[in-house]
Amino acid sequence: MASEISTARPEDDAVLSGTVSVLIPLALPKPYDYKVPPGVAVHAGSYVVVPLGTQEIVGVVWGEGSGEVRHNRLKAITEVIDAPPMAGVLRRFIDWVAQYTVSPAGSVLRLAIRAPGALEPPRMRTAYRLGSTRPSRMTPARQRVIKVAGDGFARTVRELAEEAGVSDAVVRGLVEAQALVAVDIPTEAPFPDPLAEIKSVSLSAEQQEAATHLVAAVEAQKFSATLLDGVTGSGKTEVYFEAVAAALVQGRQVLILLPEIALTSQFMERFERRFGCRPAEWHSDLPSRARRRIWRGVAEGRARVVAGARSALFLPFCDLGLIVVDEEHDAAFKQEDGVTYHARDMGVVRASLGQFPIVLSSATPSLETSVNVQQGKYDVVRLAARHGEALLPQVTSIDMRSDPPERGRWLSPLLVKEMMKALEAGEQVMLFLNRRGYAPLTLCRTCGHRIECPQCSAWLVEHRFRRELACHHCGYSAPVPKACPSCGAEDALIACGPGVERIAEEVAEIFPEARTVIVSSDNLRGPAAHEEIFAAIEAREADIIIGTQIVAKGHHFPWLTLVGVVDADLGLENGDLRAGERTYQLLQQVAGRAGRAERPGRVFLQSFMPEHGVMRALVSGRRDEFLAREAQARERVSLPPFGRLAGIVVSSPDAGLAQRVARDMARIAPRAEDVTVLGPAPAPMALLRGRTRIRFLVKAGRQVNIQAFLHAWLDDFKVPNAVRISVDVDPYSFM
Ligand code: ADP
Ligand code: ZN
Repeated sequence: MASEISTARPEDDAVLSGTVSVLIPLALPKPYDYKVPPGVAVHAGSYVVVPLGTQEIVGVVWGEGSGEVRHNRLKAITEVIDAPPMAGVLRRFIDWVAQYTVSPAGSVLRLAIRAPGALEPPRMRTAYRLGSTRPSRMTPARQRVIKVAGDGFARTVRELAEEAGVSDAVVRGLVEAQALVAVDIPTEAPFPDPLAEIKSVSLSAEQQEAATHLVAAVEAQKFSATLLDGVTGSGKTEVYFEAVAAALVQGRQVLILLPEIALTSQFMERFERRFGCRPAEWHSDLPSRARRRIWRGVAEGRARVVAGARSALFLPFCDLGLIVVDEEHDAAFKQEDGVTYHARDMGVVRASLGQFPIVLSSATPSLETSVNVQQGKYDVVRLAARHGEALLPQVTSIDMRSDPPERGRWLSPLLVKEMMKALEAGEQVMLFLNRRGYAPLTLCRTCGHRIECPQCSAWLVEHRFRRELACHHCGYSAPVPKACPSCGAEDALIACGPGVERIAEEVAEIFPEARTVIVSSDNLRGPAAHEEIFAAIEAREADIIIGTQIVAKGHHFPWLTLVGVVDADLGLENGDLRAGERTYQLLQQVAGRAGRAERPGRVFLQSFMPEHGVMRALVSGRRDEFLAREAQARERVSLPPFGRLAGIVVSSPDAGLAQRVARDMARIAPRAEDVTVLGPAPAPMALLRGRTRIRFLVKAGRQVNIQAFLHAWLDDFKVPNAVRISVDVDPYSFM
């Protein structure tokens, strides 16, 4: 493909001989040298099988050999795999991510080849198509088969028999008579081509202007990052679809990154309406056959558009020409285990290495992105109005100090009155509370004991429908005890605070006639359950929706006009760096569910601190002022994005050992200008899944190479087997 050649460096697919370096998908910091057997053609990026210890393992040729080991002592490559070599830009991306996240390059490579079987030759099956000979004996049944096969497509015996309404024997007879000829076809379904020209909506003037800007960025065929900043319901998806269409016209591939939770059939259907077919869909629950098919289709350029969760960033695109990050502010783009990368930030890096544009879409951009816009590093296009007649919802706060609920209840009389009005008008109500289960804490009235997880520093959450106490961190669960486990008092345990189940109980008392659904990950197992419940809500089969953050994102419920936030202060409790920003984003997103069609929406925030900056920003709609204040506050103390942060967690099932290792680490911490090491201190989750956790926080100026500091500190530090050290550059979780 022309554009691939134009962006590739000469060395990208150079034929190599003699010694080559091969990166292996294990936690190894660098590639190892191997000999190329004489007469074997190896390219940079070739997938090869190499011996490692007593095993044979698949790796990728990373470049010429380092020459560190003498040629006659090297082992040789065993086999070159028949698959398109990994593009140079992906290899450079893997190196970049490894360097930035302070991870072994091999661990990053593993993210890129995590599709079992993808490197094996495609499985074929035998199919038949019409040959030029006609059988000497013709029957009506044979005639029917020949008619079906007449369209030129190859089909299996079974398919031909079914379509023609005859027995398999009839088809086999035609094969014997050589009227049907055998061909090998791949077992896997082909990828339909999304068509740029199928159009479903006509854009408003504002939308058209934004789309034109994005299309121009795609046509420029060079790197740019653009924030698509539009209020909820303004048509951001329709607008970035135009950029997708432009990339398709150029014959290039497109990646649309979505928070996992937003990969719904609502999105897929919209894509299909616009482009005539669904995109390839990539997420963590995909069965391995589907992973293999998509990985291979992406590598060979047959899959044109992938809509995927964060790990799709590491797919081996052969000609990627555009990335879209939808809901770019979403914390789900941060990978928290293993290689801790942020898919939005690494998406920008991928676009810059590949010299193509990236579009970041959000109604509530992250502070990082807003600052990049202000500093002129990113472009911005704005959509200020909701599509069509819909207006933005009106947001009001309810002061829980002056309008408290009745004793033992959680909904203020003010909110209840509004709910009544909406229900009487035949409209839908959503109550939002980001807490699963019935009650977040179970307490003994007699001795004050709080029931905790035996393996984590966390309270057990009561799930009344399941009649158990559960830990949301490790999955531990136990039946609700009759007596207090500490003092033995009977019937003394009381549930403290509400979860969604408890709100549902209250709603059932106040509105016994209303049809209520709870939407939380506990009652939605698997994508099918999601689809079902969201379709039921769309079809007005529910009056009151009580939900956790699952309901906050992306959904379009035309009859929903009232949103009540049960506890707007909830996210502000864990006072981490982004608590305010994230609470604002989440509540703004929830508020955006109200009044998306003709009927105007209203939002009520129950809060004990309506004077808090987050509540004021939500009520006044002055988002940019809020972001500016947040930015100032962070700039004053040099926190991201104005400074750099890295978290280091030392953990072990052996508490004493973890402490000793952390103390040893502290002793050898290097000193560097503009770098402060905080800790060691017990992590907020000091015990997690039975492991004691001790944390350091490295705080550095913007200009500091924090990766070099971390390498200098940790590279030669010997870690006992029972201890794990995990490094998180740009941490989002401070637990
Ligand atoms: P956002 O992503 O900004 O929240 P969406 O792209 O989901 O907004 O659009 C909100 C709703 O308005 C969707 O149902 C969408 O199909 C519809 N919509 C947006 N723009 C148009 C348009 N130009 N013509 C018709 N419908 C539109
Ligand atoms: Zn636990």
